[in-house]
Amino acid sequence: MSGIPSDLAGWQARAAELRIDTGLVIDGALVPAFGGAVHPVINPADGSTVAQVSCGGAADIDRAVAAARAAWQDGRWRHMYPRDRMAIMRRWADLVEEHSAELALLETLSMGKPITDALTIDLPEVVVTLRYFGEAIDKLHGSVSTSAHDAVHQVAREPLGVVGAISPWNYPLLMAAWKIAPALAAGNCVVLKPSELAPLSSIRLALLFLEAGGPPGVFNVVNGTGIDAGQALALHPDVAKISFTGSTNVGKQLLVYAGQSNMKRVALETGGKSPQIFMPDLPDLDRAAEHAVRGIFDNAGQVCNAGSRLLVHADIAEAFTAAFKQKAAELYQPGNPLDPATTLGPLVSRAQQDKVLHWVKTGTTEGARLEMGGTPDPARPDGAYVLPALFTGVTPQMAIGREEVFGPVVSLLTFTSEDEAIRIANDSIYGLAASVWTADLARAHRVVKALEAGVVWVNCFGDGDMNQPFGGFKQSGNTRDKSLESLAGYMQSKSAWISLG
Ligand code: NAD
Repeated sequence: MSGIPSDLAGWQARAAELRIDTGLVIDGALVPAFGGAVHPVINPADGSTVAQVSCGGAADIDRAVAAARAAWQDGRWRHMYPRDRMAIMRRWADLVEEHSAELALLETLSMGKPITDALTIDLPEVVVTLRYFGEAIDKLHGSVSTSAHDAVHQVAREPLGVVGAISPWNYPLLMAAWKIAPALAAGNCVVLKPSELAPLSSIRLALLFLEAGGPPGVFNVVNGTGIDAGQALALHPDVAKISFTGSTNVGKQLLVYAGQSNMKRVALETGGKSPQIFMPDLPDLDRAAEHAVRGIFDNAGQVCNAGSRLLVHADIAEAFTAAFKQKAAELYQPGNPLDPATTLGPLVSRAQQDKVLHWVKTGTTEGARLEMGGTPDPARPDGAYVLPALFTGVTPQMAIGREEVFGPVVSLLTFTSEDEAIRIANDSIYGLAASVWTADLARAHRVVKALEAGVVWVNCFGDGDMNQPFGGFKQSGNTRDKSLESLAGYMQSKSAWISLG
């Protein structure tokens, strides 16, 4: 595939000739699931079937883990000369970049993300992720401590073994890459269980790894349902670590599976209800409102760190609400996700649409005021669309202001003092991300210190790069993706005390 289409017709033509791989990737080969089980991948924009994809179960997980274990034991990856492993990671990143249009299409067709977002946000980030962790491979060090003169104490950092990765559907390839890249860079072998709603790009990613020279068995992909393939991976005795991104409830279940099996490490990136605090002295209300709009309606609100709670000082609430509504109408109109001009696609599925509409009903029943949206798109009845919704008059007690909706629905709460804003912001089981908008430097620092969140933005939202550890406090998770901190999580220390006596 070459050249990037510039209009809807071009992308539709490209979709018609798209290569779609539908098997499991085990031990370097594309194979069907045991018994030939398949399930459809549905395009949420119109309900059509994109592909029938192999649906693996426990037996498929067994053979994928066995392949990864064999690759681990014979050292074909971890014992490879570090710069050779780097070269493979680099070639892999180049191949992903070359195939960006094709991979972006797979994302858009299976989960409804606007093609421009897939192409300009997801894919470049995936490439950076592979490059960043690839580049780190020969820059990892252990240490030698100060010890008695007749001994040497060295601490080496070693990979863990077989890592099981379980990923969600909202950024299918990117969330998988945030796990696979550091796991492989650290020298582990991987079995990925992608979301069954959007597994196609992950299958292609594994094939590109092989094309880049990655040895068979090192990176395997088993699509399947969570309760079947996912559970089997999480219970597997030969898996040393599960790295998970998904809902808080499933994350808790994975901790139970670890206790029921081999006490494997469980790294969790889970849900959120991120507050954005808008102080009355914020530098530019229109700019802040635009960021608030983007912070909740990008990816149709299906973002773990979506700024879904707007905490606005009472003095500016009216002006802020007006600016927010105007910006939302300007920036997020529903459209065909294959049209490069579209900024708001459908939700991932009919089930997700129903869930989000149910939350809208809950908010209304609780007495919050629905200022806009919150309905299906009457112009697109075949798609799982929900029009961007804003609730005002939300109190901290209302479920609409507390629970993760995972859709284009935002709650606006007001406050009258800095202390009250912090109290409301922290009154949550979640602690993934937060922001504060203010022109007062001292206030910005105070609020950053007080917020219970893994990522805090000041006068911006969602900005960052690969050096930024990403993950949550409280029930938003117990780990960090991205950054060298993430890499350390795929290694363990070995302390060797060597007597010279
Ligand atoms: P989900 O928890 O339903 O599914 C995530 C993955 O877990 C899927 O691959 C699924 O098949 C698998 N799974 C489901 N049940 C399982 C089980 N019993 N055992 C093993 N695996 C199982 O989440 P989702 O609907 O795919 O994604 C949305 C959620 O992900 C939201 O809550 C969102 O906040 C969260 N998320 C968090 C981050 C983060 O970095 N913190 C990023 C993206 C999404």
